[in-house]
Amino acid sequence: MDSFARAVRGRVIQPGHPEYEAARRVYNAQIDRRPSIIVQCACAADVIHCVNYARERKLEIAIRGGGHSAPGFGTCADGMVIDLSRLRSIRVDPDRRTAQVEGGCTWGDVDNATHAHGLATPGGVISTTGVGGLTTGGGFGYLSRRYGLACDNLLSATVVTADGQLRTTDAVREPDLFWAIRGGGGNFGIVTSFEFRLHPVTDVYAGPVLYPLEQAAEVLRFFRDFMRTAPRELSAFFAFLMVPPGAPFPEALWGKTVCAIMCACTGDLAAAEAITRPLCDFGPPLLALPHPMPYPILQSLFDGLLPRGLHHYWKADFMHDLTEEAIAEHVKFGPQVPTVNSAVHIYPMDGAIHDVGSTDTAFAYRDVRFVHILAAVTPDPAPLPAYREWVRNYWAALHPHSAGGGYVNFLMDEGEERIASSYMGNQGRLAAIKAKYDPENLFRLNQNIKPSPCAAASSRRRPQGPSGAAQPKSG
Ligand SMILES: Cc1cc2nc3c(=O)[nH]c(=O)nc-3n(C[C@H](O)[C@H](O)[C@H](O)COP(=O)(O)OP(=O)(O)OC[C@H]3O[C@@H](n4cnc5c(N)ncnc54)[C@H](O)[C@@H]3O)c2cc1C
Repeated sequence: MDSFARAVRGRVIQPGHPEYEAARRVYNAQIDRRPSIIVQCACAADVIHCVNYARERKLEIAIRGGGHSAPGFGTCADGMVIDLSRLRSIRVDPDRRTAQVEGGCTWGDVDNATHAHGLATPGGVISTTGVGGLTTGGGFGYLSRRYGLACDNLLSATVVTADGQLRTTDAVREPDLFWAIRGGGGNFGIVTSFEFRLHPVTDVYAGPVLYPLEQAAEVLRFFRDFMRTAPRELSAFFAFLMVPPGAPFPEALWGKTVCAIMCACTGDLAAAEAITRPLCDFGPPLLALPHPMPYPILQSLFDGLLPRGLHHYWKADFMHDLTEEAIAEHVKFGPQVPTVNSAVHIYPMDGAIHDVGSTDTAFAYRDVRFVHILAAVTPDPAPLPAYREWVRNYWAALHPHSAGGGYVNFLMDEGEERIASSYMGNQGRLAAIKAKYDPENLFRLNQNIKPSPCAAASSRRRPQGPSGAAQPKSG
């Protein structure tokens, strides 16, 4: 241990260290695990040392980027946490419109660095989320209808694989690895650096539009139909929410449950205002707040509602469409959203996301229109069991109308069959690539793909909606 600690340039934290308690915690306060070693890596060489040390001693490894994984994959019991949160440098090349982003960056880091050059790349909708987990699982946000998933904008990556090698991968070099890390999560190695394609994005026209709960069915239908033909510049997600008690919301609405469409439109601001106008006219709404703002402001708009240390429970599914049956379930369950921090969100999954084929990257669900997340989030753990039941019942009612699988970054610990249904026909190829790069399943604390050298040809079948999908465990 001493020689390991001497070889590492970052910080090695073990039980008894004054910072151990803080260092072992992740974003979801429900997760309470005690690793035996936490290494806050300072460079790629540290990551290599950690992987070799853990492999040789058969220690379980938790990879931590931003720490946002709801099932708590960023920490572990007894094993080693490889914490990348000090690997935060970013180099933007404005001429080539690319950014080199270290593996522990958050989206706030990236947006801040690229905005200085009038550029951006698709990331998540909360600025504290890690680039590492979000990108390797797929990653969508306000720019995805226009520019695709985060992983679609990945040009290359450097990855420490289970054998301790640092590999550079792109469409030409180690192309299987490159394919697998675009949706296959942290199964294949630890990405120490991502190279992203950037796009011209400066100010956006964005904000929420709130509607009365009684209009939920009409708003859901309107959202579904409007998004079918909306230009790619527009991103909008539907939400059931409790209005936060504070500006910019009028006091009369504080604590009220409403439905909403959160929109964000890139491009010329006057044109963006015209594109979003039908959302602000529909209803009429209770409140329409879209206005011009710098892109990084949009990206951190809801950070205050989701600080570290809340208790989370989520479930999710992809949807081919918002059918009348699904709308009826949303209208029944959505208004029970339990806290101001909770989220029932229906995100669009169309536009540029559909330009990439289902087998072009590990992220398979390229022909669905929506993904929903049902997230109970609370500062007080006491009522979480009741909220969890609400999430489970809501999800169970919607699942028969779903496309069969979930988005891996929104899954809890839901079992192997649920993971397989989320990869559809890509599962076999992922298992074969896993066998090549991580035959001992060293990186198994994730939505795990078991190594299987012969699996590539099998499991081409995709679930035909949940009737054809495996029954997941309840999570
Ligand atoms: C508040 C909140 C908002 C979110 N919003 C969105 C959203 O808008 N869009 C979206 O797509 N998702 C969103 N998510 C889901 C998010 O993508 C996942 O939670 C993701 O796992 C977070 O990544 P992280 O690096 O922060 O997580 P961590 O907990 O640090 O990591 C989770 C796992 O990801 C893998 N991983 C992380 N970093 C690396 C790396 N450098 N190399 C290899 N593997 C790595 C590892 O397997 C790791 O165990 C959100 C989550 C939260 C909590």
